[in-house]
Amino acid sequence: VRHRLTPFHWTLLAAGGLALAVAIGCRGSCRVTGLVLVALAQSTVTALGVMRPQWRWFGPAICQVHTAQARVALTFDDGPDANTTPALLDQLARRGVPATFFCIGTRVLEHLDLCRRAVAEGHELENHSHAHHRCTNFFSVARLRDDLGAAQAALAQVRGSPPRFFRPPMGLTNLRVFRVARELRLQVVGWTVRGLDQRARGDAKVVDRLLAGARPGAILLLHDGGSEPARLLRRVEMLVDKLEVRGYQCVRLDQLLDNR
Ligand SMILES: [Zn+2]
Repeated sequence: VRHRLTPFHWTLLAAGGLALAVAIGCRGSCRVTGLVLVALAQSTVTALGVMRPQWRWFGPAICQVHTAQARVALTFDDGPDANTTPALLDQLARRGVPATFFCIGTRVLEHLDLCRRAVAEGHELENHSHAHHRCTNFFSVARLRDDLGAAQAALAQVRGSPPRFFRPPMGLTNLRVFRVARELRLQVVGWTVRGLDQRARGDAKVVDRLLAGARPGAILLLHDGGSEPARLLRRVEMLVDKLEVRGYQCVRLDQLLDNR
């Protein structure tokens, strides 16, 4: 087991030092107020770090690839989905655009043929947990190991080899998530910009938000699973059009990382 100090550990140490200084330097109610403020600040920063993988608070999440080439990765979460994925694959094939799908393991097992089709058409299928449980971030190390491991096994069936990337459900991370990902040889992935496409908002708003975050090496996040098919296809069409006008090529995440 490798021990690394993450920004989280350093802040914990700094907060401890500050609390000690307050405890020594002050007396009475001033001491109590100071300690409460230190604890409050520490827990606020930690809570925000849990929700923002791009802060790399608990470990080295990939949220942007450093490259000078005008290439971006389109990533789709929460699939495969019998309602959306077949039509999305048709569209991506027509546009000649490869994508990265962060799949839910249980859904992979329900749609093995659909996943095999995506792989055969040149797309990348990666790990987005097995159950996509809303409390994944509270799972113990053992339960995380079971959940991520089950998704690895399901995806290995269709890929031929286990996935190399893990995007945590809802993007929530903590020290245990990074530990288990390391054990399973998975790199944790976040995003550069997400379309917030699951909220009720117009197509243009979603696409403009993604375009505003597009830059060389950007990782763009949309949702495949649970989306309304026509809406998703409209958005992908608009996005790919506008990216092409700006000279961007869409590639898979592994291509973005391996050929910089
Ligand atoms: Zn998800």
